[in-house]
Amino acid sequence: MSDLNYLLENNLRWSERTKQADPEFFKRLAAQQKPEILWIGCSDSRVPANQIIDLLPGDVFVHRNVANLVVHTDFNCLSVMQFAIEVLKVKHVIVCGHYGCGGVDAAIAGAELGLIDNWLENIRNVASKYADQLVGLDDHAKSAKMCELNVIEQAQNVRRTGIYKDAIKRGQDVTIHSWIYSLKNGRITDLGNPDSPYNKR
Ligand SMILES: [Zn+2]
Repeated sequence: MSDLNYLLENNLRWSERTKQADPEFFKRLAAQQKPEILWIGCSDSRVPANQIIDLLPGDVFVHRNVANLVVHTDFNCLSVMQFAIEVLKVKHVIVCGHYGCGGVDAAIAGAELGLIDNWLENIRNVASKYADQLVGLDDHAKSAKMCELNVIEQAQNVRRTGIYKDAIKRGQDVTIHSWIYSLKNGRITDLGNPDSPYNKR
């Protein structure tokens, strides 16, 4: 008997419920996916892409890694981006970080955690680049500021890829967004649009 039977039970109930609400749902999705959004987010279990923007399967193409990084030597992330932009022709790329990110906190604390330190070095580079914005902040404020700066920098990294530049050259309609999610109230702030009426921490 598997310990994970409850998950299979959950799945059975979910698939039945979904089919009842929309009998054609799975038939339609099985035929093709046509999401308009690529989501690049953190692996943190508290920030599930579809759920926090209330979208269904088929609506979001997702890439997640520790601290939502876009690293130019990461063929996993780049492959996802290429497929999403060139083949699926998504209209939006959302880089979504979150306050209280363990990856960001570990990076700025200088913790030694093994292999992942190499990955977190990318965040330390962001901290070095924006050191003047972090001066004088207490730990809490520094963490929050770094979570924001990291999102903005990773969105910039998307813009620096040949994949994005080529799409723009082709005249493709694709917009990059930098969002941050609050674990405390479940709200998203659009860092690229400070005047957004939806921004509220
Ligand atoms: Zn995180």
